[in-house]
Amino acid sequence: GNTDIREVVTLVYNNFKMIHDDFTFILDDDLKHPTFVNMSRDHLEQIMIILSDNAVKYSRDRKEIHYSVSRNGGQVQIAVQDFGEGISPEEAHHVFDRFYRVDKARSRKQGGNGLGLSIAQKLIEGYGGTIILESAEGHGSIFRITLPIKNNDRKSK
Ligand code: ATP
Repeated sequence: GNTDIREVVTLVYNNFKMIHDDFTFILDDDLKHPTFVNMSRDHLEQIMIILSDNAVKYSRDRKEIHYSVSRNGGQVQIAVQDFGEGISPEEAHHVFDRFYRVDKARSRKQGGNGLGLSIAQKLIEGYGGTIILESAEGHGSIFRITLPIKNNDRKSK
């Protein structure tokens, strides 16, 4: 695959902005050049949708979602941040497990099977990347993805 990170992130950002007009979406694009990853475009889109859906689903009063894309050496970093309920350190270990859901009763109301994040993690790791969660309970969550840039040389495509 030859997937333009910015194109996919911008598309998902625009779609979510259109669908969830009660939310504020912010996109912080630090990539100065087109940046490609060697992965299926559909997979990257699916990952972004899973994280964006969760960010919307687990937000509360502060309906704000921030996206950022940046480069760090041979890696591209994508972050999706919400200001919702967050995830405790004990639960953070488990959110990437299949069928795991924080607070079963609360989560049941929101719908879902606890599969989204495990699928996202499997896809990302399959492409040699990583996904980590930074969360402060009650203050929101940040999911950070790192993926290897295709052809780690800025001048060539
Ligand atoms: P689905 O299978 O539809 O994605 P889900 O949202 O329950 O359902 P995951 O996406 O795997 O499944 O998330 C696992 C659990 O992690 C969720 O049930 C939720 O408790 C917690 N979680 C995920 N994202 C967030 C977030 N942005 N803020 C707070 N909790 C989250």
